[in-house]
Amino acid sequence: MVVNQSVRELHHFIGGKMVTGTSSRFADVYNPSIGTVIAKVPLADREEVKAAIDAAKAAFPAWKATSVGKRVEIIHRFRNLLVENLDELINTICEESGKTKEDAKGEITRGLESVDLALNAPHLLKGEYSVNVGGDINALSTKSPLGVVATIAPFNFPIMVPLAISSMAVAVGNSVILKPSERVPISALYLSKLWQEAGLPDGVWTVVNGDKEAVNELLENPTIQAISFVGSTPVAEYIYQTGTKHNKRVAAFGGGKNFMIVMPDANLEQTANAFLGAAYGAASQRCMAISGAIPVGKETADRFVAILKEKVAALKVGPYTDDSSDFGPVITEQSKNAIIEHINTAITEGAQVVVDGRNPSISANSNGFYLGPTLLDHVTPTMKVYQEEVFGPARIIVRAESLQEAIDLINDHELGNGVTMFTNNGLAARKFQEEIEVGMVGINVPIPIPVGYHNFGGWKRSKFGEGHMFGPDQARFFTKSKTISEKWLSNDEDNGSSFAFPSNNTIS
Ligand code: NAD
Repeated sequence: MVVNQSVRELHHFIGGKMVTGTSSRFADVYNPSIGTVIAKVPLADREEVKAAIDAAKAAFPAWKATSVGKRVEIIHRFRNLLVENLDELINTICEESGKTKEDAKGEITRGLESVDLALNAPHLLKGEYSVNVGGDINALSTKSPLGVVATIAPFNFPIMVPLAISSMAVAVGNSVILKPSERVPISALYLSKLWQEAGLPDGVWTVVNGDKEAVNELLENPTIQAISFVGSTPVAEYIYQTGTKHNKRVAAFGGGKNFMIVMPDANLEQTANAFLGAAYGAASQRCMAISGAIPVGKETADRFVAILKEKVAALKVGPYTDDSSDFGPVITEQSKNAIIEHINTAITEGAQVVVDGRNPSISANSNGFYLGPTLLDHVTPTMKVYQEEVFGPARIIVRAESLQEAIDLINDHELGNGVTMFTNNGLAARKFQEEIEVGMVGINVPIPIPVGYHNFGGWKRSKFGEGHMFGPDQARFFTKSKTISEKWLSNDEDNGSSFAFPSNNTIS
């Protein structure tokens, strides 16, 4: 480990102030491109989290009472600030995550979509009204904010995921506590600065840095009403089970194993190009990254692998400071070792190496956590590399004899985040679209991430609980509905007393 002389000590953002951690526990934040510690992030203990929750709770009544128009005005300013500070945000993401600049810009742009959706809060909060549902009673349904809600983010989208899980929650009137990944906390703290500059009242937006201890307080504290979590499947399941046990509304988004079916009629050159970016972009550290291809038929597989071999071997891994890098390092040394272990195990289990990225040559003399692109052929469902999400640039080829076999393989996998199929056959595409058991489906689209105004979320063990990360469903998730029945009596009206259950007496 290389320790930089100018290691910064980070803070929490509580009650509108940067607050020094008091737990005496810290985690190292790396610049993974050079393998250097750049900051120390405090890991909050339960008392610090409680104090943050209290500050958020105190801010809630006034924020709830603020008209939605005023709230949206602040969101609008926040959106403009994100754009004005684009370059600095890109640099912050690149420095702590190792992404290329182009990729960082892409994630900010997608994050902006969820801020844009939050600008629609006035429309999405509109209730329903029915006149004279019986006996001159009018019925109306309204949506109220939940109170204090928590959002918990992973390392791989330092800006996009916090924006995606928090913007609507703020817009509909909640106080929001974000617990970012301890590996990329600097971006989240940067967002705090922008929220404050936009005029968000103190306490409505909080960043608590920490690990499992901080998360456990958020899961168990009775003030927290809802949790939107994004991370790996085992942790997502834990969050769902513990959060719901403590009577919270929970949406927990987990990992993915996303396949690309390649049909014999597909243009294999185009398909291979699509595979490259979707499979290896961001060093494959995306929940929607293509994990592997399933070519249909031996001839398709042989041709596809031959085309890919050359293209994959030509990919360039390197630091974000080099604009010609296709992708950067993985997030930690530990992660790098886990991916190498996956490759080694797959080879032992019988997978064939088409391209070996275990010892990449990096242009700069670097201690960064780099892995080159690896491609493994003849992977089968019994292998660990097939069964588990591999969060790094080791991708697989699984050969199938028919479209039905490919669909069955995918449907039998425990994860169901994303999937895509490349074909020019409309009938095959329709069968795929109807039968596939996956939440987000592409047809000739390599990474089928829905735009911000459509719902985002996987199926099976890729998502626990109800609720989506993007899309209008967020307004529902972060509000509770109230239904009011009202009637206005004139003084001379005889309303009598009835002991029967109220009804319209539609059965004569
Ligand atoms: P992670 O599960 O290790 O961490 C996510 C968050 O949970 C972090 O804030 C972390 O501090 C916290 N955490 C970790 N272990 C915990 C524990 N035992 N108890 C309580 N909290 C804990 O995930 P990661 O490595 O940061 O991110 C990568 C994972 O996230 C991948 O599996 C990826 O597929 C997934 N992901 C999913 C989506 C999606 O939309 N489904 C999007 C992005 C990332």
